[in-house]
Amino acid sequence: MSHTVADLLRWIHSNQDQALYYRLFNASFYLNHNWISSGKNEYKIKKTELRGWMRKLITRLQSVQSWSFNLRQTAPQPDPLGPPLKRATTPGMEIARDDKTWIYISDAIFEYSKRHEPSLKAFDMIRMTDRILTWTTSFTGNYADAKSDIEKMLGIEKRPSNYRQFPSYVRSKSLNCVYCKTNSFTQTDHVMAWDRWGKRGHYEVNWLPSCRTCNNNKSNEFLGLGGWELVEEFYTDVTLGGPTFVAWIKTQLPSHITWNSHFQKVKMDYQIVGITHMWEGVGNISLHNKAKSQQVCNVIERISRL
Ligand SMILES: [Zn+2]
Repeated sequence: MSHTVADLLRWIHSNQDQALYYRLFNASFYLNHNWISSGKNEYKIKKTELRGWMRKLITRLQSVQSWSFNLRQTAPQPDPLGPPLKRATTPGMEIARDDKTWIYISDAIFEYSKRHEPSLKAFDMIRMTDRILTWTTSFTGNYADAKSDIEKMLGIEKRPSNYRQFPSYVRSKSLNCVYCKTNSFTQTDHVMAWDRWGKRGHYEVNWLPSCRTCNNNKSNEFLGLGGWELVEEFYTDVTLGGPTFVAWIKTQLPSHITWNSHFQKVKMDYQIVGITHMWEGVGNISLHNKAKSQQVCNVIERISRL
C-alpha cells in the first residue's frame, strides 16, 4: 500500500477497493475540519494536511494494542450505498483534482460522504473490522460503541477544550431556549447535528441554548427554514440576548474557525441537501427540497455577516 495522495486519488478514480485509505478518505470529510469550500461546488483541503492526518491515524491504528490490520480481507465487497458513489465516479466525471497545494473533491463526492457517514456509524465500522482491522474478542459493545471506540483510539476528541464555559455563560445571562423562547436552557443544541457533522459541529459557533423538549423534537434533523428564522431572530434581538451571545461566541472560537467561515460551510451543506426532512422549530418537521434549502441558505448568509 502506498501512502501518497496521488495513489489515493488513482484508487478512487479506478473504483478499486482500497479499504483503509478509502475509508479514511471518506471519514476525513467529517472527521477532519480542514476541508473548506473552494466556492466552486467543490471542497478542498491542503495536501500536507490530509497526508499528515492520514499518516497520523494509520500510525495510531498500527500501534494501538488489540487492533491490527487485517491484510487478508481486502477483496471488493458489494457496497449497499453504491449508487451515489457510482454516479459520482462515472468515467469522465471529474471527482477530484489537485494543484500544487490543494486536493479538490466534487460536491457529488461530498454528498456521498453525507449519506455514507450514518452508515459508517451504523455498520460500516463493522465492515472495517472485517476488512481492515481485526477486533479482539474482548470487544462486547454495539455498533455505536464501535464508532466511539474508534474515535477515542484515533484521538478524535469531541471537544478539544473549554466546553463547560458554554452552559455557565448561558445561565449567567439567563438565556432561554432559542426555539420556543419560553422554556429555560437545559440542553445545548448542536445546530448541525453532531452525528452528521462530527468534530466540525463541536464548537460554540454551532451551539445554541435549548430546552429538553425542543432539543428532543429536533433530534438530529437538519434545521429547516422556520428553525433558522428563529435562530436569526435570537441572534439579532437584544431582548432575547442574542447580540451579546454572538459577541461572546466569537471570542471562544479557535483560530482555524471564524463565525463567517463556519456559516459559509453550513450554507454549503444546505446547498447540496436534496429532499430531506427538516425541523422547523417548536415541534414541526416538514419535507424540504432544494428550493426550500435555498431559502434557508439566504437566512444563513445573513447570519454569517453578523
Ligand atoms: Zn424550547
